[in-house]
Amino acid sequence: MDSIHDNFVDLVEHSNVLIAVYDETDRLRLANEAFRRAFHLSPDETPSWVEIMRRNHAAFKGTPIRSADLEAWLTSTQSRRGKMPFRAYETDLVDGRWLWMTETVRPNGWMLCVASEITDLRRDERLLRQDLDLAMRAAQTDDLTSTANRRFIFGRLDALIHSAALVPDSALSVCLFDIDLFKSINDRFGHQGGDMVLRHFANLVQAVIRRTDCFGRIGGEEFMLVMPGSPAESSLVFVEHLLAEARTARPLPDRPAMTYTCSAGIATYQPGDIAADLYSRADHALYRAKVEGRDRVRLSAEALPLTEQP
Ligand code: GH3
Ligand code: MG
Ligand code: MG
Repeated sequence: MDSIHDNFVDLVEHSNVLIAVYDETDRLRLANEAFRRAFHLSPDETPSWVEIMRRNHAAFKGTPIRSADLEAWLTSTQSRRGKMPFRAYETDLVDGRWLWMTETVRPNGWMLCVASEITDLRRDERLLRQDLDLAMRAAQTDDLTSTANRRFIFGRLDALIHSAALVPDSALSVCLFDIDLFKSINDRFGHQGGDMVLRHFANLVQAVIRRTDCFGRIGGEEFMLVMPGSPAESSLVFVEHLLAEARTARPLPDRPAMTYTCSAGIATYQPGDIAADLYSRADHALYRAKVEGRDRVRLSAEALPLTEQP
C-alpha cells in the first residue's frame, strides 16, 4: 500500500471498532466491515438511518427497540440524534453485545459514528446507567408527539446562540408555529382528533428538516423550529412549504374531508440576542400572521429585506 491515505482506509475497514459516516440527510455513506456486520448491511448499500432501524427491527437484529411503538421510538430518537457537536452513550445490540457509541457532527450535518465493544467492561451499574439514559430521553421528549420538548429545544437554542455569537455574520432562524383555530378542531373532532392533528403536524415537519435543525413541541398547539445556518429568505421559503403541506393534508383517516392550517412567525438572530429575545420576536411575527388572516408566515422586522423594513 503506497499512501498514508490507503493505509488509513485499510485500517478503518479492518478495525474491530464500528465506524460509520452519515450525511446531512442521515443516509449512511460509509461503514466499515465491523459496522456492516453489526447492522446487517451489505458492502455497497447506503440506506438511511431510519431504514437501517426498521429493517433490523423487523429481523430482530441490530439495536433492540424496547418501545411497543416503533414510530414513536424513531421520532424521539431522531429528534435528539446528531443535534450536538459530540455525544457519547452506552448501547446494546440484540446479540447481547454492549457498545460505547460516539457521535461527532460537523456544522454541515455530516456525522461520524464510532463504537467500541465494551461487553466485558464496567458491567457493574450498567442497568443504572441505562436507566439514566432512558430518564434523560423522557426528560427531553414530548410525550404526545415524541418530538423534542420545550426544555430540549430551548437548551439547543441557547447553545446555537452561543456558537452564532462566536462567528461574525452567522445565520440562525427561529420559527414558531401555532395550529389555527385549534379549539374548534377539539370541539368538532374531540380531544383525540386534536391530538392526532398535533402528531400529524409534528411528523410532517420532523420528516423534512435537516439534521442540524431542531424541532419540537413547546406548548399546547405550539411548535418551534430552530434552523442554524439558515438566513431569513430560505427559512421563509421552507416554512411556506411546510404550511402548504399542512394545508393539503388529511390528518384524520376516518374524516377524509377534515383539513387544518397553521400560522408561523420567523425571527433571525441578531448579535446580543438571548433565546428569550428570538422567541419574543418570533411570537410577535406569529401574532401578525394570525391577525392578517392565519394560514401564513410572517417575518419579524429584523428579518425583512431592507426595502420592506418598517
Ligand atoms: P388561533 O388560530 O388563534 O391559534 O386559535 P386557537 O383556537 O388555536 O387558539 P387557542 O390558543 O386559544 O387554543 C388552543 C387550544 O389548544 C386550547 C386547548 O384546549 C388546546 N390544547 C392544548 N394542548 C392540547 C393537547 O395536548 N391536545 C389537544 N387535543 N388540545 C390541546
Ligand atoms: Mg396557541
Ligand atoms: Mg392556535
